[in-house]
Amino acid sequence: MMRLLIIGASDAGISAGLRAKELEPETEVSLLEAGSYPNFSICGLPYFLSGEVQPWERLAHRSEAELAAPGLRLFLRTRAAALLPEERQVRSEDGRLFSYDKLIIATGGRSRRLAIPGVDLPGVFSLRWMEDAFAIEEYVRSEQPARALLLGGGYIGMEMAEALTLRGIRVSVLEHHPTLMKTLDAPLGAELAACLSAKGLGVHTGLRAERIEKEKGGLRLVADGFEALADMILVAVGSEPESSLAAAAGIECAANGAICVNRQMETSLPGIYAAGDCAQTWHALLRRDTYLPLGSTSHKQGRVAGAAALGRPAAFAGTYGTQVVKIFDRVAGRTGLREEEARAAGWDPFTVASSHWDHKAYYPGATRLELRLTGDRRSGRLLGAQMLGERGAEIAKRLDVLAAALASELRVEQLSDLDLSYTPPLSSPWDPLQAAAQAWERELRREASLSV
Ligand SMILES: Cc1cc2nc3c(=O)[nH]c(=O)nc-3n(C[C@H](O)[C@H](O)[C@H](O)COP(=O)(O)OP(=O)(O)OC[C@H]3O[C@@H](n4cnc5c(N)ncnc54)[C@H](O)[C@@H]3O)c2cc1C
Repeated sequence: MMRLLIIGASDAGISAGLRAKELEPETEVSLLEAGSYPNFSICGLPYFLSGEVQPWERLAHRSEAELAAPGLRLFLRTRAAALLPEERQVRSEDGRLFSYDKLIIATGGRSRRLAIPGVDLPGVFSLRWMEDAFAIEEYVRSEQPARALLLGGGYIGMEMAEALTLRGIRVSVLEHHPTLMKTLDAPLGAELAACLSAKGLGVHTGLRAERIEKEKGGLRLVADGFEALADMILVAVGSEPESSLAAAAGIECAANGAICVNRQMETSLPGIYAAGDCAQTWHALLRRDTYLPLGSTSHKQGRVAGAAALGRPAAFAGTYGTQVVKIFDRVAGRTGLREEEARAAGWDPFTVASSHWDHKAYYPGATRLELRLTGDRRSGRLLGAQMLGERGAEIAKRLDVLAAALASELRVEQLSDLDLSYTPPLSSPWDPLQAAAQAWERELRREASLSV
């Protein structure tokens, strides 16, 4: 009987284990998990902290019983301390040895630390694990902070800005980039900043945090001549791969520490696979490895690793960097490349911004959505899209159509040929993404006529 050992029982590890069991139920699948909360939705932590999802147990993708049902053997509070590839064993922190035929490393990521003085003071938090969420929850309940400062205007910072506002806390966001959500083009980031300001939140961009000091009135943050006083500070400045076990065993890792893998998710040591936030991500448009740690990607990579470890044909198709975030009543997202990324990759990108009603304007509740479409001037190929609109405007699903178009290597003009659904309360005969494609074509023709 084949023994598959998996380190880490979150998105990637559980997906790998379930896939292996699905394909070959007789496989012995064991998972070592350092923590106490296997298969919890980290992505849901902001909604627990906002109070919208209670109790915390509801964040479990699956209960321990549901994981045991297909036969996964879970070893909780069992931290893998060393890989012994020669012996095909893993040693846990408490000295136990776990033997395997194939190994999958799914150790995930960790919050990036901000290397500034004061970051370890009480009242300063990061958010990655259930324990982090419990600590924030406990602090909010016991200390009843009136003011919170969020360091980082990325998607976790945005979600937590909303969450803490819903808890009645006055929130300010500080971001070192000139606009919020630096993974989007500046006009969309600026619109999000305006949305937060309209809700009464403070937004301070272009400022790099220098230090945090404890004083009588709270925690003082100093940044480039700017100062703010808060009762709690949340640092949300990104995540980095947790790959120390792999690196110590001599497995090849990229400069940022992410474990190098091939499309079968196999590492540089045969028989050892890696998936999820600890590993590199193949980018389908860039045709190279990147690092895009996302839950959606982790599930897919885990599923591939689970099959490939059994010797089944499986390959990670790659990411397009599709991502979406809800911020109060707005939704922003992207798929594919932005103009400067496309140019750096050798394309001749052309981006057109356009604005459309999400459905027929005569039907109640129509709202405007902003679309930025990037295509290649030479081939007309769609390269990327960004969108911002109201929560009811189906932003995420419209982006998903564009992600599918990217995967099909469609040209921008072919978006108009897609047989998309239409009824006045939900769309228009030309869906906004088709109207945006036509705007892109018009602008390209106009540019060409001007250059003649
Ligand atoms: C607040 C927040 C919101 C997010 N929202 C979204 C979202 O909306 N959409 C999205 O796509 N992504 C989102 N993400 C990202 C997503 O959560 C991660 O990409 C995903 O959890 C990665 O899964 P993973 O299995 O690779 O690793 P992780 O979830 O990091 O899990 C790794 C597991 O390995 C265990 N482990 C580590 N080292 C060892 C060891 N030595 N021995 C044993 N066990 C070990 C850890 O305890 C952990 O359980 C969010 C992340 C955060 C923090």
